[in-house]
Amino acid sequence: MTTAELLSIGAELLLGETVDTNAAFLGRELAEVGLPLSTVRMLPDDRGVIRDAFIEARGRSGVVLATGGLGPTHDDLTREGLADALGEELREVPALVEALEERFRAFGPMPAANRRQATLIPSAESLANPIGSAPGWWVERDGVVIALMPGVPSEMRRMWTDQVRPRLAACFALPPLAIRSVKAFGIGESAMAERLGSLLTSPPPGVEAGIYARDDGVHARFSTRGDPTVLDGCVARALAAMGDDAYGTDADDLATAALRRLGELGAATVCSWEADTEGALLAILAAAGPVDGGARYVGGVLDAGMAPGPRVADAALQMSLLPQDANGRSRVRVSISGAVSLPVTELRIHGSGPQRPRRAAYAALNAVRRLSSSDR
Ligand code: ATP
Ligand code: MG
Repeated sequence: MTTAELLSIGAELLLGETVDTNAAFLGRELAEVGLPLSTVRMLPDDRGVIRDAFIEARGRSGVVLATGGLGPTHDDLTREGLADALGEELREVPALVEALEERFRAFGPMPAANRRQATLIPSAESLANPIGSAPGWWVERDGVVIALMPGVPSEMRRMWTDQVRPRLAACFALPPLAIRSVKAFGIGESAMAERLGSLLTSPPPGVEAGIYARDDGVHARFSTRGDPTVLDGCVARALAAMGDDAYGTDADDLATAALRRLGELGAATVCSWEADTEGALLAILAAAGPVDGGARYVGGVLDAGMAPGPRVADAALQMSLLPQDANGRSRVRVSISGAVSLPVTELRIHGSGPQRPRRAAYAALNAVRRLSSSDR
């Protein structure tokens, strides 16, 4: 099986100033493409180190990806490092110079330093960067594919999705990976595994099944490179096994489910009041976007202790996160007033650090999702 390696290039990664989110993104994507990532290395902006890393990586893997170091400044040395590794000369390409000049036209003359971004080696093809100045490179030599992408995550993702991923899929004739998931809240990973039973331990032929704990609950994930309709049966069985604990599948989320439930119960609008949660509930609800037939989220207050202000919504969802106990467990107090009502309820959550407020907010949303029609 062909495997892939990633070189994450940039001194700021090694200094801990930037977290390598590109590696996390590409790791997930490559698994889906069927070219699992076998190694990730973070490298400083050092031409010799970058050269050696390319030499080693192409000796081991059929696909070598790199992000970062394609900028115009003296410390952007990925092009030079790869040219050295392949023993090829960098040459300025007039069409690339022109494209860069065109890009800069609106801002005035192009800085001379940017001409470095218009260079290629003979075996490289340029990959357009429609949202940044650094073009990528696509290199096929000696049976190894090498792709260079910008470090800026949005530019890297765009180039990956539009150009690199489709080319890799074409080169390696990979059947696409179909993925379905079933999401539950309020149940632990092992309890969910127990309920899913043989669906997890011996899924249908060609299907891989796994279970993952996330802030928004536990997700059972089913994937296959074969006929994707086999996954429908897995999802149906998992939903049946989980009953009311499941809140959705695939892209479904708890905020949407909660807003929909409030709408069904007669609240056209909802606001939030939260204490000791760093605005987690507000952030999650505000990101959810409008829900067809659901309550519209109109905003939140970050201290449930303050005196109530003017009524701004049909229903007010209130939550406060109580201090962690000695075992690291936390409780969250949730209530709803207005057109829909839920008396003060205490829910238990676990998790620490930034997980705590987010899990508390998801627990509150799960309580809203589970409201019955007698809670009007
Ligand atoms: P540019 O033309 O913008 O300089 P570049 O290809 O040279 O692009 P870098 O200079 O290495 O990219 O990185 C630009 C920015 O992108 C960094 O400041 C950092 O914030 C972000 N970045 C770089 N590499 C990564 C990475 N592996 N994960 C997440 N962010 C990254
Ligand atoms: Mg740069």
